[in-house]
Amino acid sequence: MSSRTRSALLLALAAVLYLAPFAIGTEYRLFIATQMAAYVLVAVGLNLLNGYGGQVSLGHGALVAIGAYAVAIAMVDHHWSFWPAALLAMLAASAVGAVMALPAFRLSTWYFALITLGFAEVVGGLLTEWRELTHGFAGVVGVPKPVLLGHELSSLDLYWLALTLNILALWGMANLLASRFGRALVGVRDNPVAATASGVSLVRIKMLAFVVSAAMAGVAGALYAVQKTVVTPDDFTADFSIFFLLVVVLGGAGRLWGPVVGAVVFFLVPELLAALQSWRMLIYGTALLLLMLYAPHGLVGAMDVGWQHLRKRLGLPPVASQPPLAAGRGAVEPVAGEALTVQGVEKRFGGVTALAGVSLEVAAGTTHAIVGPNGSGKTTLLNMISGFYPIDAGSILVDGRSVVGLAPHRIARRGVGRTFQTPRMLPALSVLDNALLGAYPAERQSALSAALRLPVARREQAASLADALRYLDFVGLADRALEPAGELPHGQQRLAEIARALVGRPRLLLLDEPAAGLSLDELDRLGELIAAIGRLGTTVVIVEHHLELVANICSSVTVLERGAVLASGTPAEVFSHPEVIAAYMGTQAGVGQAAS
Ligand code: ADP
Ligand code: MG
Repeated sequence: MSSRTRSALLLALAAVLYLAPFAIGTEYRLFIATQMAAYVLVAVGLNLLNGYGGQVSLGHGALVAIGAYAVAIAMVDHHWSFWPAALLAMLAASAVGAVMALPAFRLSTWYFALITLGFAEVVGGLLTEWRELTHGFAGVVGVPKPVLLGHELSSLDLYWLALTLNILALWGMANLLASRFGRALVGVRDNPVAATASGVSLVRIKMLAFVVSAAMAGVAGALYAVQKTVVTPDDFTADFSIFFLLVVVLGGAGRLWGPVVGAVVFFLVPELLAALQSWRMLIYGTALLLLMLYAPHGLVGAMDVGWQHLRKRLGLPPVASQPPLAAGRGAVEPVAGEALTVQGVEKRFGGVTALAGVSLEVAAGTTHAIVGPNGSGKTTLLNMISGFYPIDAGSILVDGRSVVGLAPHRIARRGVGRTFQTPRMLPALSVLDNALLGAYPAERQSALSAALRLPVARREQAASLADALRYLDFVGLADRALEPAGELPHGQQRLAEIARALVGRPRLLLLDEPAAGLSLDELDRLGELIAAIGRLGTTVVIVEHHLELVANICSSVTVLERGAVLASGTPAEVFSHPEVIAAYMGTQAGVGQAAS
């Protein structure tokens, strides 16, 4: 489907929904439809957190409660008008959401889920016990209807308001997810190491997801209060929270339309078909069982899979709607002097000494190899430079500035890119999106400008897209850009990972055994690629076993053995060093044989 057709279909759908009340509108149906719109708002927000960010919240109902009570109390007890009260609801829920997020930075998903459940219980307790504020069990009664320009909103107006909020929420969510924030969030869920290496701060992204998600729950609560006109603690029991999680998971977590489909199938349909009412719990339970067995990605996930199969059957090529290309960012300006200085770095893992005082210097704009037998500490050294493990002693300078003690995403933002010995992709995202993740540290757009697709965000996204396509082309993967990264063979995942690192325009690029698992053809290509990367001005440090490759592309080499430097110098010097020949290549092996 082209993006034109899709826009037209969505517009038609919106028109039908706006006009639907005139065709089928009984007061009761209108009430249910408005309630559903409020629920969709909660579910869309929860989907951001749970579906995309992988954080399970069993406490979202409590955030709705906070929004609903904020509006009810402000309007009934303090005679506020609806609009500032709704703003208060949104802010209160966001603030509480931010506090709720704090344990998520320390705990694993399921412990965290339990905490959110406990949190919902605490809020529930407060609703009944803090009587001066909440009126206890009786709740807040007689919430007035919102007034706009002197006109009191009817139930039809309220439905339109809720529908409009839904449309805005889905549009903003689609924009946000298509931006650097969406990729970062999926990174948090699927591969935090890759996300961090691309400059993503996990804490900030999780916090963003919580706050946005909570804000949406707060707004939904505001709608809920004026629609029902009464809020009581009984409205917000634990199953209210669990209901939202079910809607998201069953509808299709991590799919934009999942929560909408979930709300239609699991709220609207049982609600409208009176005969089904008493069967509701049975329907939920059965659906949960069946879907988890046969469609673990929910209803929308199942539709996706069906659609892909159909395309394959029909022999259709993948289609993607892409924004127009714009110019990419400029090349790296190499600075004179040392790009990397490692001095006396030590690292122990328990009783194992992985690095016992390693020093090396890499001049800016050159390509340096680290070679040595398995277990000699090569990967550990890269992990020290990129900050994935703290060093025990020594110093590390990048472009003359110490990086010791910095978090890995901060080091990435200083211009240190890297790949991993085992490629770290976000398998569910396209190869293109994986490459785009690399643009994260260079991009400046805020979540708000991304969600609203402001021109500043669009320009930047177009520049990143051009960059990503350029580097995918550079590594020879342009024609697979739209395939899920998880489906690429290992060797191509490595190349895609290099493209991702390059999109970030690293000043210093660390490659951990990039040639492992490559075919001979790919190996040649890699050699050319690394030489070309050097010509871009990037300093490269490469851990590599293929000594022929090293001899061809590197100007200096450090040989590690058992965590210490055995020799260093030009490839010619190092590879004729008697100790290196004895220790690393074996006495009879020459460069050519070792490379095969
Ligand atoms: P290389 O990359 O040269 O093959 P590594 O740097 O991976 O070697 O490993 C060097 C030594 O440090 C090995 O003995 C390895 O077992 C140990 N090591 C590396 N990482 C860890 C870790 N996270 N925990 C414990 N030991 C580790
Ligand atoms: Mg290694």
